Amino acid sequence: MPSPEQLNQALRALPSVNEVIVALSTLIGAETVPHDLLADLIRLELEQRRRAVLAGNEPDLSVESVAADALQRVRAQSAPSLTRVVNATGVVIHTNLGRSALAHEAVQAVLDIAEGYSTLEYDAAHMARGSRHVHCEQLLCTLTGAEAAIAVNNNAAAVLMVLNEFAKDHQAVISRGELIEIGGSFRIPDIMAFSNAEMVEVGTTNKTHPADYERAITPNTSVLLKVHTSNYRLIGFTESVTTKELKRIARAENAARKEAGLEELLVYEDLGSGMLQPLEGIEGHGEPTVAEALAQGCDLVSFSGDKLLGGPQAGIVVGSKPLIDRLKKNPLARALRLDKMTLAALEATLRLYLDPERARKAVPTLRMLEMTADEALCAAEALKDALERTVPSGVCSFEVVADVSRAGGGALPMLDIASHAVETTFVCGSAQACAAYLANRGATPIVARISHDKLLFSPRTLVSPDEQGLIGQTLAAYFADECGAPSH
Ligand SMILES: *Cc1c(COP(=O)(O)O)cnc(C)c1O
Repeated sequence: MPSPEQLNQALRALPSVNEVIVALSTLIGAETVPHDLLADLIRLELEQRRRAVLAGNEPDLSVESVAADALQRVRAQSAPSLTRVVNATGVVIHTNLGRSALAHEAVQAVLDIAEGYSTLEYDAAHMARGSRHVHCEQLLCTLTGAEAAIAVNNNAAAVLMVLNEFAKDHQAVISRGELIEIGGSFRIPDIMAFSNAEMVEVGTTNKTHPADYERAITPNTSVLLKVHTSNYRLIGFTESVTTKELKRIARAENAARKEAGLEELLVYEDLGSGMLQPLEGIEGHGEPTVAEALAQGCDLVSFSGDKLLGGPQAGIVVGSKPLIDRLKKNPLARALRLDKMTLAALEATLRLYLDPERARKAVPTLRMLEMTADEALCAAEALKDALERTVPSGVCSFEVVADVSRAGGGALPMLDIASHAVETTFVCGSAQACAAYLANRGATPIVARISHDKLLFSPRTLVSPDEQGLIGQTLAAYFADECGAPSH
């Protein structure tokens, strides 16, 4: 350990903030960084060195070294954190990468609304205060056959709000097979506790029968809750109760309640994904549309805006007018409300669905999910050609291979979507190093999949032809850095 005197001497060698500012001014050149911000970043850098000295290390205390590291901090701070990413994984609703890419029409609507004032809560016809709920409600009703609808921040918020409104201080009955965790700490039992609903579990993990629900109902039961099991499936010796059956049970109960003047027992389904129209060419997944769930007898159905629907993050509840009216008055509807940009994107996305064929072409999530294996083969061949044009020969080889894509986002978990991808085999460098380079070093991070020391690029989740070029350029840059290959 150095003596206290030696430490003091070392610390005195640290440059002053002003000395570093002078040194930095030549490095930064035309970049403009506010003086106070610069001084703060330099202080952080000096503090780090001071601590290193006190810990007995010997950091470089030269003004040039402090200036260079402070410059790194300046650059890191001025770079945006939320950036565009190229999704080459083939996972369509990739929650870590922002779930659904928006349709062009939705993006234009956001731009238009964000840049100026809007009729967010203004009724132009009556020149009076309006409601933000009107913009999407009629569209949602048309598309699902519901009488009324409300959209909030996300589906987790929708579930919380519905349970709080209808099951607070009451019992909500749910099958043990549906007590799921969806990820990001969204657990059905926790959400129920948080909404002050009393959870009544029935059945077993694998089997629940109608009689289990019937036996659990008391005068204080207000909701029979059905939850889509999303990213998990019960297979084998299993049985669950259909919505139709739940409605039959509720109807029998409500006949008795009506005579006693008691509140109705509701059937509510948290559907998760929110499919508005059947997916063409993808059969046997058993995922009902929202309209089908309602037709089965649900009083309320909730679903996400950014999963199979392919819109912005939102949680939508549809059902009868008296029930939705109650939700609109719940304080959570205010606390969890959508902002104008999201409403603009949601309205524009829903409008596309009025023509199912148009939605198929214009909503990226639908287009990607419905891309056939043959279309994926063509797209993979085009991507391979583009990569071969950009990346110098000899450093790697590209091959089109059969691949499986996924819906992601907890939607259609058992569905293998037959697809094709471009597989990269490395002559120089490695799949691991290249994946890290693609994710970090290019102007736009590129996320690909590693499989057996090869790098796979799925064309299914690319949103534009530009992204092909971007993958090619970044790959070429990787090989230039790694192998000294000429990039052109
Ligand atoms: C995804 C999902 C949720 C949560 O929806 P968010 O829109 O992500 O908040 C809730 N329930 C089910 C069944 C889901 O699949």
